Order: sequence, then structure tokens, then C-alpha cells
Amino acid sequence: MTNVIVYNAGTKEVLHEVPLKHAIRMLDRKVAFIVDAHEDTFGPHPRPKALELVKYVFTKWLYDTTGRVPYSRSGVLRRDKHSCAYCGRAAVTIDHVTPRCQGGQSTWLNVVAACSKCNGAKKGRTPRQAGMKLQWHPFEPTPADLFPRQASRRR
Ligand SMILES: [Zn+2]
Repeated sequence: MTNVIVYNAGTKEVLHEVPLKHAIRMLDRKVAFIVDAHEDTFGPHPRPKALELVKYVFTKWLYDTTGRVPYSRSGVLRRDKHSCAYCGRAAVTIDHVTPRCQGGQSTWLNVVAACSKCNGAKKGRTPRQAGMKLQWHPFEPTPADLFPRQASRRR
């Protein structure tokens, strides 16, 4: 018996293939619908070739089964819109607010985007120690914060 292709919602993005029985369970749970089927049936359904999910799921690094976005350097830059958290200019580097040498962790709440000038001026100090002021407080982003267009692509 062949597998069934599963597309992400509203896309032709193939997420994976699932065994037929798994596909039927998805149809019964109404999390997916048939987009292509064989001529015969399987129980009450046409035997599916391909399904499409009802809800868009985030994939690759963004996708986390807890629904939370895993911390990443590129995610920090995206969250802060590639702007330096100290001076607002374009940023391509990240800064640990409490520096690693003082026990600061690599987490959403302790890392901000920073330009290399501010990064170099701050060195291994906290903003208070360096006399620098954060223009916004780091936060844990939702998928919608990082990918607003994708997150709104729902049916
Ligand atoms: Zn800066």
C-alpha cells in the first residue's frame, strides 16, 4: 500500500508522506482534507493520494512541537528587525545583554541585535556598567512576530 502525500495548508509545500491508515485518521479528525484521490474508496472516504492540512504548520527551525520558537541568532536579528537595540542603526551582530563572561545565557530574554560599533563599545559589560541604554526590552517572540505573513496565512 502506498503512502499519502501531506501538503501544508494553502501551499504546495510537501510536509511529509504518511501511511494510508494515518491519512484516514487525519481525515476523521478533520485536520486535513483530500486534494487528490484514487478512484476507489477506503471506508467512507475516497482512497487519498494527497491531503492538505487545515492549519498551516511551521516547519524547519521555526517549528517546535511546544508552539514556542526555539532561540536562534538569526531569530534575534529578525525579532529586532535588524536594528541595533542600543542606537537603532542597522545591526548584523548580536549582543548578550548580561555578557557571557558574567554568566549571561544565550536566550531570547538576554540577547538583542546590536551594530558592531555598539557591540565593540559595550564589550564584556552590562548596559549599566557600559553606560548604554537598551531602547527596547528583549522578549520571547511568537511565530507571528518573526513571520507575520506566514502566520496570517490561514484558511
Ligand atoms: Zn548600535
